[in-house]
Amino acid sequence: MAEIIKTSYSALDTFRQCPLKYKFSVIDKIRVPKTKEAVFGNKLHEALQFFHKKSPLSPTLDELLNYIKEIWDSSVFADEQEDMIYFSEAIKILKNYYENYLKIKDRFTVLDTETRFEVLLENPENNNEKCLLAGIIDRIDKTKNGIEVIDYKTAKRFPAQDEIDNSLQLSLYCIGVMNRWPEFAKYGPENIKLTLYFLKHNETITTKRTKEQLDNIKKQTWEMLKQIEKSDFQPIPSALCDWCGYRKICPMWKHLYKEQMTIDDEQIKKVVDEFFQLKLANTQNNKKINELREIIEQYLNREKLERIFGESGYITRLNQIRYEYDMDKVKAILEPFGKWYDVLGIDADKLKTIIKTLPPQARKELEKAKIVDKEYKILKASKVKKKE
Ligand code: SF4
Repeated sequence: MAEIIKTSYSALDTFRQCPLKYKFSVIDKIRVPKTKEAVFGNKLHEALQFFHKKSPLSPTLDELLNYIKEIWDSSVFADEQEDMIYFSEAIKILKNYYENYLKIKDRFTVLDTETRFEVLLENPENNNEKCLLAGIIDRIDKTKNGIEVIDYKTAKRFPAQDEIDNSLQLSLYCIGVMNRWPEFAKYGPENIKLTLYFLKHNETITTKRTKEQLDNIKKQTWEMLKQIEKSDFQPIPSALCDWCGYRKICPMWKHLYKEQMTIDDEQIKKVVDEFFQLKLANTQNNKKINELREIIEQYLNREKLERIFGESGYITRLNQIRYEYDMDKVKAILEPFGKWYDVLGIDADKLKTIIKTLPPQARKELEKAKIVDKEYKILKASKVKKKE
């Protein structure tokens, strides 16, 4: 009998973010201390679970605030000041949440919090292959018209509606709820509201799924599982590295955390610094050149000249014309020679602009249509990162 693959939404999301992070966390099971942002998020989740556990006999605001005081973990913050900033933020969030709850509490009943679910997904292309996908849903409410699945977010970034409409997390939660409680499935996915609650903004954003979308998500999940199977787990550094607990063992950050610096290492640090100084000088020079260009242009216009001289040389103003072809005429000329399709190369910059205007599904299809043309390395300079 074929082995059942076990995974979770958070594991799939980690792979999407960075395959190496997935390897460290899911395959090698390397445990690292939680970042302060993760601890902050966990404490708020715990407090909200406490708040809704005995619903409708919810605790008072004072009881809620006392609860977070009791469970607060100051040890993850750099100093007292940072601890205070995070704690005040948590208090503000809970006060806002409580006020909002009082306004809307008659519209729903909390059915469950921190709900674990498991769902068995068959590979649509090979029904011998099965995957057991697990997850935890922060809150499930019964509303007048059906069910609402709520996931709390502590991130500051508020995503666009189309991002939520295509969120893998919410799709999998919808499948999870329908699977865990078949009686909810009778409502159909269209009657299950999927909501992200952005605690820092005290705002929610809601979406729904259709049966077709959920079938498609099952297919996508399997595509991702196949990618994981074939992956060589290369790191994908991004802004999210700042929240990654594996920085100290990640090859992309190895140099920053090197303990014993050799003479070579010291020298390369100086080269990096010189690189930055030259880049800065370049930017300043370009700015200055543009200012001088402006002064020269004004002088040429004033004096009705097209050429001016200095001690080091002279500058001439030249008329430059850029042409575009009338593509219908070009086509008529080239087609008889069988050369028309040779000139129809894709303009990558134009395509990038067009992609942004396409619906998400078309964007995904285009992503799959990418083939490697040329692979080369570039040097990208980024601002210095502090060691943790
Ligand atoms: S530090 Fe960045 S590149 Fe390295 S494993 Fe973490 S997310 Fe990936």
